[in-house]
Amino acid sequence: MNFKTTIGLEIHVQLKTKSKMFCGCNNNAEEAQPNTLVCPVCLGLPGTLPVANKQAIEWTVKTGLALNSKIAEFSKFDRKHYFYPDLPKGYQVSQFDLPFLVDGEVKIETENGDRTIHLTRIHLEEDAGKLIHSGNDSLVDLNRAGTPLMEIVTEPEIASPTEAKLFLQELRSILRYLNVSDADMEKGHMRADANISLSSTNELGVPVEIKNMNSFRMIERALSYEEKRQVEELEAGRKIAKETRGWDDVKGETYSQRSKEFAQDYRYFPEPDLPPFEVHKMFDLDKLKTEVPELPSEKRAKYQEMGISKQDSEILALDQDMAKYFDAVSGQVSPKLAANWIINELKIDGLKKVEAEKLIGLIALIEDNTISGKIAKDVLIDMIETGKNAQKIIEEKGLKQIGDESEIAKIVDQVISENSEIVASIKAGKTAAISFLVGQIMKETKGQANPGVVNKILEEKIK
Ligand SMILES: [Zn+2]
Repeated sequence: MNFKTTIGLEIHVQLKTKSKMFCGCNNNAEEAQPNTLVCPVCLGLPGTLPVANKQAIEWTVKTGLALNSKIAEFSKFDRKHYFYPDLPKGYQVSQFDLPFLVDGEVKIETENGDRTIHLTRIHLEEDAGKLIHSGNDSLVDLNRAGTPLMEIVTEPEIASPTEAKLFLQELRSILRYLNVSDADMEKGHMRADANISLSSTNELGVPVEIKNMNSFRMIERALSYEEKRQVEELEAGRKIAKETRGWDDVKGETYSQRSKEFAQDYRYFPEPDLPPFEVHKMFDLDKLKTEVPELPSEKRAKYQEMGISKQDSEILALDQDMAKYFDAVSGQVSPKLAANWIINELKIDGLKKVEAEKLIGLIALIEDNTISGKIAKDVLIDMIETGKNAQKIIEEKGLKQIGDESEIAKIVDQVISENSEIVASIKAGKTAAISFLVGQIMKETKGQANPGVVNKILEEKIK
């Protein structure tokens, strides 16, 4: 039987605002000692009052603008009640029926062409604390309790585990471009839960929720495992149970955590301590729109128009720092050379070591034949070590390419006379041997001869 896979994702993103969602506590929990970034508000002590972090709302709206979402005219926070040791208040302030944003989309490029994944909603809530289990003890750290947490929910229309991974990678890029989150999955800045169902008809199958996945690889593996498990169950004539499953990365298996036959009752009600919001009146939306940078998908399209390959365009656009660097360099010299040097020679670690201006200087010297590409690689290493610019390095080291034909012709004559047997074999038709002679000439000139001129003169002389 043929089964169609349908996946929906729920992504939680920690916003990197200075302070927490409803209090003034420092929001940078990562390096702080446990339970040092807390106050009566985020500890949920009686008698305290929350104040909403305007920056967090602004960044959520900005994310929505970048993802083509609709901004709610009227929105509010709600209390979502559940009990867990990392939730000191006994409820989480979240958004129930009136999220800040509805709809939206993320475009991804798959092997089967471009796809648009639609969003259901984007809302804002507060993160819970963190439990640390060691031996028989469980410890709680509330530094993270109250961190602004943006939740992005997709429509159930992702068609494969690989598409789910591509979607998340694209979303991570966008969030980083917007500078609202570091979106590092391994550090829990971005966490994803997935719903996956299989069906042999047009109706959606029974959704199974998978939690605890904190890397792109884990998500793809867990969903692939679950896809296979469900096919086996359905083919054996068994029913899929509506449940939440965890992912065991060591065993490479999902396992049943709890049944979802009965929806948990969170007893939502409007947060009485926070007034509702008229979001479109809170911000100058036109101005906010202008602050949305050119996004990875736009960069990719632009680069391909410049003649950069699809694969290289993806590499350049994935990281905003690399894209910015490429934009600066490609405006001054050949975009293809710029892409090649940035991707293959400089790489992401090298971007900070060589200013864009200096790489432009180096590439310009290749373009006007002052140095060869081979010499330029040595110059780049020198640039990284000394911080000097390319012009200065080639002057100091006398690395200028020899373009003067008469000078090269002399060396060509010398190499020809030293290799008469090879010259004879070339004349006899073994033309591949010509590269040996080129090599000898380059060796004689310490790589400084212009290869084009060398080839031209060699051909003339051997003909
Ligand atoms: Zn606090």
